[in-house]
Amino acid sequence: MYWTVRDMPDGELMFVDTPSSTFTGAIRPAAPRVLSTAPLPGKRYARAPVVVEWELTRACALTCRHCRVHPITERHAAELTTVEAQQLLEQVKAFSNPPPEVLITGGDPLERADLAEIVSHGAALGIHITVHLCPTGRLSAAAVQRLARAGARCVSLGLDAGDAAVHDAERGEPGSFDRTLAAVRWVHEAGLGLRILTRVTETTMMGLEALSQLVVELGAAEWALEFPLPVPGTPPGRTVNAWQYGVVMRWLDKLAPDAPFSITTINGPQWHRLVFERLRDQGVPLAEIRRTPAGNRLGLRDGRGMLFVTRSGDVYPSRWLKLPAGNVRSRPLLHIYRRAPVFAVLKDEGRLRGKCGLCPYRAICGGSRARAYAVTGDPLGPDPWCLFSPWRGA
Ligand code: SF4
Repeated sequence: MYWTVRDMPDGELMFVDTPSSTFTGAIRPAAPRVLSTAPLPGKRYARAPVVVEWELTRACALTCRHCRVHPITERHAAELTTVEAQQLLEQVKAFSNPPPEVLITGGDPLERADLAEIVSHGAALGIHITVHLCPTGRLSAAAVQRLARAGARCVSLGLDAGDAAVHDAERGEPGSFDRTLAAVRWVHEAGLGLRILTRVTETTMMGLEALSQLVVELGAAEWALEFPLPVPGTPPGRTVNAWQYGVVMRWLDKLAPDAPFSITTINGPQWHRLVFERLRDQGVPLAEIRRTPAGNRLGLRDGRGMLFVTRSGDVYPSRWLKLPAGNVRSRPLLHIYRRAPVFAVLKDEGRLRGKCGLCPYRAICGGSRARAYAVTGDPLGPDPWCLFSPWRGA
């Protein structure tokens, strides 16, 4: 077992960061052979990520079941200061023109009084900023309006079911559903884009059909589906299994062509393979596939086109893959992404092992590195939830 869970000093249950030494096993020679060349081999993500997720704070008044057992009422002393936060945004700007998108998460970002100031700084740099908000007492029409005035482009809200009782039970927070729907109204009144984030578990997957209708009615621009990892110790029902994951993916593939929102997946890179196959089967040329919104993100996965910055500036390949790569207080984010060994290895599809190393879709999908690491201890190993066979091609 590589991940363990313990109580943090501030009361939060979290996965202990993996010591750097355990990563050395990942730096081995490239896979010795492949079945065929990979279409769309990725140099695209070599120099800049597409998305930077930044956990601004872990403070939050809620105790949603998937997140924590105690509310964290105080901000941590190690959080990036306002000036450091602004410097981080300047480092994001230095990556590319246009700069990568920034997704500000928590905890509850509204716990920070300087949130609007930070967003305003990023917006002035031309960064597309999305802020994920929690349905706490701090979430109000005025708070959303402040974000809009500061230059945020989009607000993300969590919705796990189209039914209030199921959503509230899943979160363990009575009233969460109604507060979230009220926030949707405020987001539209403020003229901001809306992103809905759904956690797919054995319970919530049963209601995805109804939820998809609600996501349409709510006018979301993006529906992000997050697949919790089957890490050791996960309570029964808090995630899905490989077969259920495949069922949801196939269902999404049928939904996508007529959906008025874009679909993104977290811990679900097989989605890229399905998108690619659908467009390819429609006869869309490779160059045009790349220009579609979904095609533009083919191959995006942990550490390859995305990264995660914690409240104190630690950098990881993603929120779910806790392999430390550096800290923005001691090294610029750009250097970490371009030069840290963990990112160099994860960006290189030629280093994947097992089935993923042999797969013709290794550049487009490449499997969830976080799931491979959580289940097998090898961040470059095969994705244990993938039911695709590179040998049979299905
Ligand atoms: S074998 Fe690996 S790269 Fe191929 S589709 Fe499955 S997870 Fe993706």
